Amino acid sequence: MDYLIKGLALDNNIRVYIANTTDTINELKKRHDLWPGALSVLGKTLTITSIMGGMLKENHRVSVAIKTNGQVGNVYADAYFDGRIRGYLQNPHVNFINHQDNTLDDRFSLGSEGIIQVIKDLNLKAMFTSQVPLTYFDLAKDFAYYFNTSEQTPSAVSVGVLVGEDNSAIASGGFVIQLMPQTPEYIIDFLEDRINELPPMSKLLNTHQNLEDILTTIFGSNYQIIEKLPLKFTCSCSKERFANGIVSLGKEEITQIIEEQGDIETVCHYCREKYYFNKDELLDLLNKSK
Ligand SMILES: [Zn+2]
Repeated sequence: MDYLIKGLALDNNIRVYIANTTDTINELKKRHDLWPGALSVLGKTLTITSIMGGMLKENHRVSVAIKTNGQVGNVYADAYFDGRIRGYLQNPHVNFINHQDNTLDDRFSLGSEGIIQVIKDLNLKAMFTSQVPLTYFDLAKDFAYYFNTSEQTPSAVSVGVLVGEDNSAIASGGFVIQLMPQTPEYIIDFLEDRINELPPMSKLLNTHQNLEDILTTIFGSNYQIIEKLPLKFTCSCSKERFANGIVSLGKEEITQIIEEQGDIETVCHYCREKYYFNKDELLDLLNKSK
């Protein structure tokens, strides 16, 4: 089962978040027919978004949109404070693999221009929104840049997806390591060396039993777990929500749908769940609309 660990390490001088999203991305592969290039981008985005969800306080939610001119188009992911996650991208049929070291090169999928947009619902009147341009076309580096600039928190990010011969994910996951305001210089130096020595995330995930083992590889015994949070693919869509959406189209448009199509089938972008409305149901919604 997918989960997220929140912890402290190196004598409580740094925060560490580490997550695996293998089951979730394989569930999304089934629902969206993700090809390997798309699976890689969405798996990494989901991992970072789930970690950002783990940074939130109760009842808060974060939505990430990566808008690109690349093969995958736009990429979307949501995470709640309690580990509920979901995501999709515009074009699931992207199939670039760099066969040399069996890793996926996301630059083909992400294109040459784009932005990362982060929207946080913190139960305030207004949403917290921030964005950075895609600069590296490498999600780990681009999100590190986001944390460093938009959230002013010096951060190291590592994410990876390992795809098997059947094109499903063998492993998907990653970590975000953040400095505290008073982190001493010698800890920063140690951490930089340590991170530079580490193998790619996909390899770490593939050669370790679990996330705790990876933390041990990185920090030895100098870490402590604050919380372990199960991650679960959940979509908030329902027939009622789609009904409300239809009502909000207005009388004119609903009348047109009834006259031209008679009935309709709506599809949720996030989970591909389908909701069917027959003519009677549409007439009922027409009555409720303005
Ligand atoms: Zn849905």
